[in-house]
Amino acid sequence: MIAIRRIAVLGAGTMGHGIAHAAVSAGFDTTLYDVSAAALERGRSQVDAIFQKAVELGKATAADADAGLARLRTTSDVAAALAGAEFVIEAAPERMDVKLGLFSDIDRHAPASAVVTTNTSALSITEMAGLMRQPSRVAGMHFFNPVHKMKLVEIVRALESSADALAAVEQVAAKMGKETVLVRESPGFITTRVNASIGNEAFYMLMEGVASARDIDKALKLGLNHPMGPFELVDLVGLDTRLSILEYLHRSMGEKYRPCPLLSQYVRAGRLGRKVGKGVYEY
Ligand code: NAD
Repeated sequence: MIAIRRIAVLGAGTMGHGIAHAAVSAGFDTTLYDVSAAALERGRSQVDAIFQKAVELGKATAADADAGLARLRTTSDVAAALAGAEFVIEAAPERMDVKLGLFSDIDRHAPASAVVTTNTSALSITEMAGLMRQPSRVAGMHFFNPVHKMKLVEIVRALESSADALAAVEQVAAKMGKETVLVRESPGFITTRVNASIGNEAFYMLMEGVASARDIDKALKLGLNHPMGPFELVDLVGLDTRLSILEYLHRSMGEKYRPCPLLSQYVRAGRLGRKVGKGVYEY
């Protein structure tokens, strides 16, 4: 396997800037690409802000921060971003048409030896790989938000992912200081599937009057050691986002994942979570 030095990150949003920060911190020369110049500018200043916070907290030196930022290039030219990239991490919006457009750019502009990954939360990586001349070099690399705080990366094996590609993903994740788990491509991987199930069960318990939302949250935090209760968490994630995940799991894997009617009702009421000031709780 070649030693990877140059990474291209496609998409500079919530996840893309965090992934770019992890990449430059690990010593990779990193090019961040986005269609939006404003997103690139914001992405760079967010990477800078994460470094500055680390310096304030004594977790990095000013020299580390400067060197890290110096390894970051930004561009809105996709061919320039991909030329010479040895490893690609796609972090564009969760829409198959957008992902397929980018995968055809990657097929055209990236070196044929580059390992290609996507940070998709749920879309089929096999379908994206199907567009490439060499689908075996494609795998999933699922980071968590915020990337600089969350230790895990789910490595996702698509139908044709090669052992070499998976090993390269593991190597890059390890250099970024992440722990990894290997998952066969399946809806919701490990974390989204388990989390959606717990959240759905909590809504069923609330609907049945088993306990109050506060007590269900308290029970999971103090009795099961969850850092947040399921309702606190869904208010953060967004009830609409959670509902669409459950609808997807229900469609692809059946009855077990049918969204609780109370969750659908909250969404219809516009109680979407913290982002609108009210969800299960009021803010
Ligand atoms: P986001 O909306 O914050 O950022 C997406 C960025 O992509 C934006 O800056 C946008 O300008 C840019 N973009 C749009 N079209 C593009 C194109 N054709 N080429 C390049 N860039 C383009 O989204 P996000 O939350 O960072 O999510 C990105 C991916 O990561 C999605 O697949 C999502 O499912 C996944 N993900 C998100 C989270 C999360 O908590 N937000 C967690 C894990 C995985």
